[in-house]
Amino acid sequence: MKSSRQLSKIVNIFLHIIALVFTYFLLQGGSLIIQNLPNRHTQIQLEDYLDKSQLDALNKSLDARNLEAETLGFNQQSVRTELDGLKEVLAIQQQNYKEMLASRYVTEDSQSNNQVEQIRKRIEQGRVAITDATQKENQLEQSLLQNQQSRSQIQQEIRNLKQDARKIMREEQRSNTLKAFLIRLLFVLPLMAIAVFLFKRYRDSNYWPFVYGWGYFSLYAFFIELVPYFPSYGGYVRSIVGIAACFLIGRFLIHKLQDYLEKKREMEQRDEESRRSSLQNNERNLENSFEKIHKGICPSCDRKFASPDNKYCVYCGLCIKRECGSCNTLQMSFNQFCFECGEPHREEQGNEGSADKAVEHNRSASSSPPAPSSA
Ligand SMILES: [Zn+2]
Ligand SMILES: [Zn+2]
Repeated sequence: MKSSRQLSKIVNIFLHIIALVFTYFLLQGGSLIIQNLPNRHTQIQLEDYLDKSQLDALNKSLDARNLEAETLGFNQQSVRTELDGLKEVLAIQQQNYKEMLASRYVTEDSQSNNQVEQIRKRIEQGRVAITDATQKENQLEQSLLQNQQSRSQIQQEIRNLKQDARKIMREEQRSNTLKAFLIRLLFVLPLMAIAVFLFKRYRDSNYWPFVYGWGYFSLYAFFIELVPYFPSYGGYVRSIVGIAACFLIGRFLIHKLQDYLEKKREMEQRDEESRRSSLQNNERNLENSFEKIHKGICPSCDRKFASPDNKYCVYCGLCIKRECGSCNTLQMSFNQFCFECGEPHREEQGNEGSADKAVEHNRSASSSPPAPSSA
């Protein structure tokens, strides 16, 4: 709905704003509905899928094993220290024993026999103590090994428990996204359908701001509220939807282009006068025609006519410029009144010469039509 009249221009700007504001309020209402939809993407946590009591029991026994390992380690350390001490004492006693035996040979002191005997006994006791401590250390080593085994077993059980829970959680997540998607689809699809219907039928009506507002709204709903929720089963659904959307849009555009070319072809079949009257039969068409001519494009066949001085389109023979019937000033053939003398330009009256020329030109054009460059 374009118009160059000043008031229309201002109102048009406001109507565009109204379309956007209308979209805004639709979006607000829509987002409220979406927010209140059941099964919105609730945060799923792994903890919700774990067998709590089993996990607690496992954790508790793991803690006990850890504590036990700590105690065992501590005991082992003290046994080792004790063993080192015993070995040191034994070494000293053995040294003493050797020295005493050597001195006894020299002194032949019978009293030292008792001392030697005592030291020998102590050495014997020391050896027994070392054997005991070593045994103890070995036992502790064994217990630590067992403790480690049972700890890693418990850890494995905990891992298995979590893995099972994760599997269930993933399945739940997948079905949740699918549900969310289907619910959204149920809302967005009718919106899109209504938008397409309104656009097809009412986009040129006086109520176009509402048609456009609804269209923006449904596009937003589709791209922001639906597309991110496309379930991605290895990307298949997304790819299929993408392929289908591309195909449908492409087909729509191809049909549009064919319709357009068909319309132009059909128009080119008609004579200059009937084409001209359809190009200026209402204000909008007239203004479109002026606009195209200003850009150097023929309003009838949409091709660029060779030069701005052309009186006729070299492709379809539409008269673009002609002389005023009363003052002979050259001007745009779509002018409703002469810009020089103000005479109204009427088809029958104003273009005796030029209309004949146009018809004649058109006739010759249709007998040997120019090869349409865009067909
Ligand atoms: Zn043309
Ligand atoms: Zn004139």
